[in-house]
Amino acid sequence: MWEDLEVALEKVKADKRKEKPSPDNLGFGVHFTDHMFLMKWDRENGWHDRKICPFQDFTLSPAAMVFHYGQAIFEGLKAYRGKDNQLLLFRPKDNFERMNNSALRMCMPRISAEKMVKVLRALIYLEKDWVPTAPGATLYIRPTMIAVEPTIGVKASGVYYFYIILCPVGDYYAEGCKPTRIYVSDEYARAVKGGVGSAKTAGNYAASLYMSEIAKKAGCSQVLWLDACEHKYVEEVGTSNIFFKIDDQLITPPLEGSILGGLTRDSVLKLASSWGVDVVERAISIDEVLEANEKGRLREAFGTGTAAVISPVGEFFYKDRSYVINNNQTGELSARLSQALQAIQNGYQADPFNWVVRVV
Ligand SMILES: *Cc1c(COP(=O)(O)O)cnc(C)c1O
Repeated sequence: MWEDLEVALEKVKADKRKEKPSPDNLGFGVHFTDHMFLMKWDRENGWHDRKICPFQDFTLSPAAMVFHYGQAIFEGLKAYRGKDNQLLLFRPKDNFERMNNSALRMCMPRISAEKMVKVLRALIYLEKDWVPTAPGATLYIRPTMIAVEPTIGVKASGVYYFYIILCPVGDYYAEGCKPTRIYVSDEYARAVKGGVGSAKTAGNYAASLYMSEIAKKAGCSQVLWLDACEHKYVEEVGTSNIFFKIDDQLITPPLEGSILGGLTRDSVLKLASSWGVDVVERAISIDEVLEANEKGRLREAFGTGTAAVISPVGEFFYKDRSYVINNNQTGELSARLSQALQAIQNGYQADPFNWVVRVV
């Protein structure tokens, strides 16, 4: 597995390894494994200095461009300890290809998606004892690229780091799957067509925090974003894409530049279609959603993303009014999609789309 990778290996000595966190208190993104992958890029050498090394702090100039102009992109995926103790990844190449789309938009260098899948498999294999064993717990994977040239002048950086760090995370639904209460934002916007909403870039998340705080104060866990021009059409919810089941049709907004193209979204579209569900990608206004709800035609609404897979919406809070969806219950299709996707991700169900990649 290490041949032809061109990756140096600096292992943490056995007696210097970290203690593993208690399995019932993993939290999200607070514990990091012993090793990370790191490589550097400059114009002369391209990507070089590839290494798997101890998880470590960086020393960066205060002028490093990422601190000033925000060239930072990332990905999020998981390693699953599935059937028969196999270590599995879900569509990892698609994550690295999406990262290349983000890189293009942010004037950052491309990576080889194929090579990065190999590197990731080697890294996970080295850290296999960190992949949690509890049901639903996973090893979260965060590939990241940042601009580190120490120059204050607005332009694309000439030097970058790319790294992959890993965190064991607990079952998202440890306390059961409760439909969420969602704040519909009719004042602030996340992204605008022609902007950077379709890139997984740091600034989008900074831009969302203020509205998230308002939502929290109103007792909501996430924000449903509407389009930035008219505050009319539904875009996405927090760091998830959104689906509505109206009558027998499953509807999600189309990817037209301001929405992040989730891999869970894409998997839901493909899986539901394969079951014969009538699936459409089209613009849908918040008025249409709430009117369908009023008439009892909105059967289900749910978010999709790597962290929660399928997250049912129980209630929308819009212009100071609450709208309860499906009696605040998880819908039939939401439950079926959630079960099927997780069964595929964990190797318990046939994988008709070849989404799952074994670590070894
Ligand atoms: C990552 C992300 C998603 C979900 O993507 P997945 O690949 O399904 O995890 C949706 N919206 C935003 C804004 C995101 O950052």
